[in-house]
Amino acid sequence: MGKKLIVQKFGGSSVANVLRIQNAASRIAGCKKKGASIVVVVSALGNTTDKLIELANKINTNPSEREMDMLLSTGEQISVALLAMAIHKLGYEAISFTGAQVGIITDSAHTRARIIRINTDKIKEALKANKIVIVAGFQGVTLDQDITTLGRGGSDLTAVALAKELKADECEIYTDVKGIYTTDPKIEPKAKKIGLITYDEMLEMASLGAQVMQARSIEVAKKFDVPIHVRSSFEKDSGTWIIKEVKNMEEVVVSAVTLNKGESKITVSNVPDRPGIAAKIFNELAAKGVSVDMIVQNVSHLRSTDISFTVNKTEAKKALKVIKKAARNIGAGEILVDTDIARVSIVGVGMKSHPGVAAKMFGVLAKNKINIGMISTSNISISCIVQKKFAEVAVRALHDSFGLAK
Ligand code: ASP
Ligand code: MG
Repeated sequence: MGKKLIVQKFGGSSVANVLRIQNAASRIAGCKKKGASIVVVVSALGNTTDKLIELANKINTNPSEREMDMLLSTGEQISVALLAMAIHKLGYEAISFTGAQVGIITDSAHTRARIIRINTDKIKEALKANKIVIVAGFQGVTLDQDITTLGRGGSDLTAVALAKELKADECEIYTDVKGIYTTDPKIEPKAKKIGLITYDEMLEMASLGAQVMQARSIEVAKKFDVPIHVRSSFEKDSGTWIIKEVKNMEEVVVSAVTLNKGESKITVSNVPDRPGIAAKIFNELAAKGVSVDMIVQNVSHLRSTDISFTVNKTEAKKALKVIKKAARNIGAGEILVDTDIARVSIVGVGMKSHPGVAAKMFGVLAKNKINIGMISTSNISISCIVQKKFAEVAVRALHDSFGLAK
């Protein structure tokens, strides 16, 4: 084709109402006018997906996952059609497709399906006919023609996967913020927009609570080296580029501070201290599909110990049920659940080569009289669990101490 090919993804907030759909349409048309080939991926309007989930739960508190996918995929089908109509109104040619129509083939793990392959023929044909192609995000189809969805926030994955498959020059993620910030500007007004960030840092930030992009989509972008540009759908300024490597990145020790209030802490007390016990507990959790995050085992006293771990708040109930049974079987004691926790983390590839970052973080928290409940580290992040009421203070103090403020 020779022309520049751009994949543009518009998130739910960017198409939340008629005005915003029209705004998205004129941005897309403006880009088309400059001569690019454009494939657009759209999410459901506003919080449609949440509303559909609520509705399903009113009908059946334990809905079939296959039917859930049938239901949720309708959200994106509405947005692609409306966006196509808005583009037509501007005098440009556009055509909308569902995930199934453009051959986004997935496995059959309903509500969290993985993309196996994408047949891009239909898209390429429409592009050749000079049309703007609009694809429903977040959905695919199995080889048996069952509709699937790719997990919450999955439109990002659709966009990245299409960008990879079509060898796009750019993958733009349009959203309601200007890009990736050094921390949440709602918590710290002095937060700065980051110009360039690595896949690894973004991945770490996403898994630690930054909600701008779906973590899986960044994994895929990293794997296939798809450069991503996260930017505002309401402003012209460029946003944040997510790429493989940032020059001079070693000079920056900490790139961002994140906060996650979405976890609960479960403590199993008086766990017998002998080989195989931890394996038993965590195997049971894994078997029931509960993913565990931080784990801390206390120093053993009198041949028993306490094990604490965190899980996603939404999985706490399920985890508790599993743990109660497991605790009985292994002869452990009381189980405590603490929902009053927050995880505050610092992220930066630079910390690999700078000693003393953890000590500095703990010092900042101590100076602010904030007690640390649990600690965990990766090679580019350090997380502390603190009491929820101190979370924002901790974020601001760390953001300031690591020199991130404007
Ligand atoms: N509409 C879906 C969700 O809310 C997918 C997305 O927005 O990316 O999770
Ligand atoms: Mg969304």
